[in-house]
Formats: sequence, structure tokens, C-alpha cells
Amino acid sequence: QPKEKLDAVDTVCPYCGVGCALTYYVDRERGGISFAEGRDQPGSQGRLCVKGRYGWDYAASTQRLTKPLIRVESSYPKGALSQDVKAESDRDVVRKGRGEGKGEGKGKGKGGRKPGGLVPYDEVMPHFREASWEEALDLIASRLKEIHTEGGPGTIAGFGSAKCSNEEAYLFQKLIRAGFGTNNVDHCTRLCHASSVAALFEGVGSGAVSTTYGDVANADVAIITGSNATANHPVASSFFKQARRNGTKIIYVDPRSGTVADHADIFAQLKPGTDVALYNGIMHEVIRLGLIDRDFIASRTSNYDELARTVEAYPPELAAQISGVPVETIREIARLWGEAKAGVIYWGMGISQHTTGTDNARCLIAMCSITGNVGRPGTGLHPLRGQNNVQGASDAGLIPMFYPNYQPATDTATREVFERAWGTSLSPENGLTVTEVIKSILDGGVRAMYMLGENPFLSDPNINKVRKALSQLEFLVVQDIFLTETAEFADVILPASSYLEKDGTYTNTDRRVQLGRKVFDPPGEARVDWEIVQEIARRIGLDWNYESPREIFDEMVPLMPDYANLDYDNLGAGGKLYPIEDPDLTDGTVVLFDERFNTDDGLAHLVPAEWLPAKELPSEEYPFVLNTGRLLQHWHTGSMTRRSFALDAIAPRAEVYMHPDDAAALGLAEGDLARVASRRGEIVLNVKVSHREVPGNVFIPFHFREAAANLLTIDEIDPTGKIPEFKFCAVKVAPE
Ligand code: SF4
Repeated sequence: QPKEKLDAVDTVCPYCGVGCALTYYVDRERGGISFAEGRDQPGSQGRLCVKGRYGWDYAASTQRLTKPLIRVESSYPKGALSQDVKAESDRDVVRKGRGEGKGEGKGKGKGGRKPGGLVPYDEVMPHFREASWEEALDLIASRLKEIHTEGGPGTIAGFGSAKCSNEEAYLFQKLIRAGFGTNNVDHCTRLCHASSVAALFEGVGSGAVSTTYGDVANADVAIITGSNATANHPVASSFFKQARRNGTKIIYVDPRSGTVADHADIFAQLKPGTDVALYNGIMHEVIRLGLIDRDFIASRTSNYDELARTVEAYPPELAAQISGVPVETIREIARLWGEAKAGVIYWGMGISQHTTGTDNARCLIAMCSITGNVGRPGTGLHPLRGQNNVQGASDAGLIPMFYPNYQPATDTATREVFERAWGTSLSPENGLTVTEVIKSILDGGVRAMYMLGENPFLSDPNINKVRKALSQLEFLVVQDIFLTETAEFADVILPASSYLEKDGTYTNTDRRVQLGRKVFDPPGEARVDWEIVQEIARRIGLDWNYESPREIFDEMVPLMPDYANLDYDNLGAGGKLYPIEDPDLTDGTVVLFDERFNTDDGLAHLVPAEWLPAKELPSEEYPFVLNTGRLLQHWHTGSMTRRSFALDAIAPRAEVYMHPDDAAALGLAEGDLARVASRRGEIVLNVKVSHREVPGNVFIPFHFREAAANLLTIDEIDPTGKIPEFKFCAVKVAPE
């Protein structure tokens, strides 16, 4: 159909935190999207990556959940199937990869083929029966109330999702807090940037970014660290590359020579887990050269002397010895950074996903603060947020220690504000994080869970332990659009809506709040998520009568000072960057902290950190360091992108990336099968020989169920941010 005959719907990309604005051109006659096009908005300027452009057809998959399902009591124990699959057929799936015919939704006995490593639908489905919404919702309410009455509020926990709109995230945390009297509510920020948020709160009093990725154009030096931005935030990465063409010096720091390294002026390839030593060494040199901003330190920071004493012990020679980055490179970075008139730091999960994640981020905050690189155009701190709405879901209160807008759950005055607003008494104690909930289930604490759009069976570390925990839950509700790996453990599965099937607001990594618009109705009997949450709330006795996302937004915004002056009706075209002190500002606020930080005393708190090694170092038996992450074409546990035809065709199979020398030493060539094992589990997958890895390190994306990287990862967590160490554990590799 020519473009003029198609229905244009303006919305937002559902994948990464860049949140590109896009338009779907919909053929209403044929009933599908014809194509997607980038839409002009300051943060994306009409650009889209491959996921935004082609990753939407999953919504029409024949595997969509369209009716509520209830587990049939049988001899089939929860999680047994995934165990069997692991033992019997994964290798087969890996060998075949994709591309042997479609067969989606058909069983192997019917001549079809299981799609890649996705959940074998027809093997799981017989263990559930279809139910009416009334029956499913009544069962959920009665079982949750029963367990709550028997064991108290601590027996219930909820995982929300960074895929939820702001309104859905707000409503979900309100249900858990007001309905069950517990703050046991969290989401995948815990696996993403929880350590960055902890450090930013402590350091500058706000968990959000201090400037945008587009502001890189005003920087003369930008450090991009622990981020393969070209794969994970592709459109943000295009701004970095554009800035370099216009004269910004790019310093790239990462253990992998990702494609950002190809566009950098300096590439510091550090050993994994040595960030604190490297940044302490750089600060040591900045101070030695007298390149600190003394006025800024005196008037806008606290605790400089302690920081200076700590980094004094990290001369570049020692930093080089620990990090593997040459002394000359450390000196060069220090000089460039110290002399920059405007310097900015962007970081990814290579910084945050360590047991030292909070310390890593503390060093970056100190790097900016001692050189006066905060509060002006082209300066600042920016953790590149992962999911499209991880910023908004966190803002809206899907965090166990904070009400919406990061207001402490343990603060009496704050609690009273929310008790008055919600008309009920609330728990004075912090709740459990994602990682703590898993432990609590195994210890007999949490007994029932409600999961909205999360898939911890693939996304959490050490999934053999997660399997044990999920199997042990007395009652599990999973609300999702597909039968995910986690749904296999559910007692009730509720068919939810994809982002194409609902209205709502989403907040990107820049703090840009945008309106996502509905393209289609949900399929079959699937329902919009906020309506489902409301149905459960009513059945447990809450008097909720929301009629639209706008009504929820209008309740939420007065409770969230940072969202003041945001108007639901004005978020459609390009969205707005919060905070908006002046409603006449066309695009909101780009640079924060121009006069004071958000801390109580208005100062940046410098927190020194000592370098600590990772928790599980390589050994004779497990000689390689495993790093896990994402590919450009896929998203998290693959439930959407592996059902998107084009994306799956480009990247159909799980691979372990290793340096040519390591592969050769093991007798492995490109495409061979290798067995990768840690102390917690093992997987079989194809070898990808890659010059981007350093010898001794291997990289495995975590999208692939049939070779689940998180069978290998370690569940040690950062003591402050409670984030797991996804970026470092010891493994061995052998030909299969
Ligand atoms: Fe979507 Fe991110 Fe790609 Fe933009 S950069 S199109 S938000 S995945």
C-alpha cells in the first residue's frame, strides 16, 4: 500500500533506554504493520536501529497468550520440563539453530519444528487448562489472601517490569504496597543499574542522569566506559560518533574492543573487574598534574581530602599493573580529561554489573566532580539505562526501598504522605530486592509471587538456583504476552498486552517522558496490563476505579515532584525532559545541578573506593573469565526479538565469543560446538572466533534459552546496589 493509504501511529520503540520516537504505518485492511519509520524528536532525530525498524512482528506471533491459563494438578512437577530440555534436547536445538522451516506453534510430532530454543509450547501447554478471567482472577485473589493471612505481608512479593508504562509500574507497586502491606516489589533495574543509582543517590542526590547523550555534542572530551553502545544503545552511539566527527575526543574504556573502540581517540582495554584501580590511577595523575578544579571542589563538594588520600595510593604504575592498561595511556587519559573544558562520562553495565558496581560508579562521580565537570553543557554523568522504561519504572516506585520519585520507604513523613494519598497504612520497612527474594523463597520467607512481564528464569544469575526457588513457591502468578521460561513455573498465567496494544507514558535514559500509543487491540481475550492489576486489586478489597492511563498519570504526578508540570496531553510529539521548572520550556531540562546538587547540603559527596578483586577468579580448572551481555539484534531473554522474523534471521543462534589464540589452543574453529562450564552449570553452543575479546576472556549473550548464559553466572551481589556480578565468573571451555 502507498504510505498515504496507511494509518500512521506515532509511538516509542519498546527496546532500549534510548526510546526512539517512531511511527508505525498500519495497513488496516490487511490488519498488520507495513513498516516503521523514525520520527523526529530531539533524542533520536528520526534515527532507528535494526530492532526499532524490524522488531515488531512478534506481537502477531501465533504463540501469543490469548486466554487465562490455570495449572492442572498432575505428576508433572514445576520446572521439570526445563530440566529435561537442558539434559536432552538443548544440544539438538543448538546444532539446528534456526532456519529449518517455520513451524511456530507446532509440535515436533506434528511435522513442525520447535522455534529455536523458545519454550516448547505444545509440551508445556497440556499442563495448563484454559480458564475464564473470572475464575483466574478469583483464584489469584483467594490464594494470595490466604497465604498473606497465614504468613503475613513478608510472604508476598511482586516483580514488575521495565517494559511497563509509567502508569502500570505505579499501579503495580501500589498494589503490592497498599494491598499486601509490604515493600517487596522490585524489577529488572536490580539487574541493570541498581549500583549506579545507589552511587548517584549517595553522591549527587538523584538517580537519574545529569545530562543527555545528545549533550555529548557540547563536550570536548567524552569517556564511554563499560558500554558496547553500538550494540546496546545504537542511536545514542550514533550521537557519540557524530560528536567525534565534530571534534569531541572520545576515550573508550572496556575489556572488549567493541565497535565504539573503532571510533575512539584512546582505547583503554582494561582487564575485567579492575575499573576502580584504573580510575583511581587516573585521578591520582589528575591531582599530581594540578588539573583539578579547586573552586568547584571547595564550593560544591565534600570529602575531597579523603578521596585524595585514597587515590594517592594508586600511582599510574600500580593502576597499570592491576588493570593492564599501559602507564602512558593512563597518563594520556588523565591529561586529556584534566584539561577538558567540558568533559562527560557515559557508562553501561560493564560498570554496574559487578560486586563492586557501586564503587565503580563512585569513581566516575568523583572523576567528574574533582574536575568541575558537572552542571554545565557538555559535562556530567550518564548511566545509559537498559530497557526502554527502566528509568520510568524506577521513578514510579518499582523499587523496594523507595516510593515513587525515590522517596525513602523508611521515612515516616514520606510514608504518611502515601498513606494519606492511598487511604491505607503502609509498611515502615524496606522490602526485598529481586536477588534477595530468590534467597528468601529458598529460606521459606516469600511463599507467593505476582510477576508482571519479568522472566527471572533466564535473566537472573545462577538459574539452577532460580529454578529451585521458583519450584518451591506455593503460588506464582505470571502476567505476560508469551509462555516464558518463568511461566512454566506458574500456577496461573494471565494473557497481557504488548506495548503495541495500549496507551501509556515511558521515560527514556535522558529523563524524556513520551507517550506511547495503541496500534491494535490485544489478541483474543488478552487484556491491558493496568486493567488486570486493577482487577486483582479490587478482588483483594481495594476500591480502585481507574478508567484510563491518563487518570493514573494524574494521580501519580502530584506524588512525584520531578514530574511536576508534565501534562499527559503534551507528551506525544517529542516528549519532555523532566524536571520542568518552567512549563514554557519547549523541551524540558537538559543539564541538572548547575547551582546545587540534590543532596541535603547541596554538595556532591565524594566517596573514595579501594579496588577489590572479583568474587570468583580464574583457576587451573576454570581458566577463563566469562562476560555476559547483549547483541544488537536481540533483547534480553529473547521472548520478543526471537519471535521477530528479521532479527532472528540475522542472529539465529547462541555463540561463545573467544579470541583466536584461545580457540586455536583448544582446537576450536568458527562454528564448532563447545561446552562451557562453571561451578554452577554448563551449556553447549557454537564458537565465534572474535578479535574483540582479549585472550583469557569469553563473551556469551544471555538471550538464548537453549544455551542459557545464566546457568553459568554467579549470584554474588554488590553489597550496596544488590546487583549481581554478571560480568565476571570463572569458566572452562572444551570442544564438544
Ligand atoms: Fe529502539 Fe534503542 Fe534501537 Fe532506538 S536505539 S530503535 S530505542 S532499540
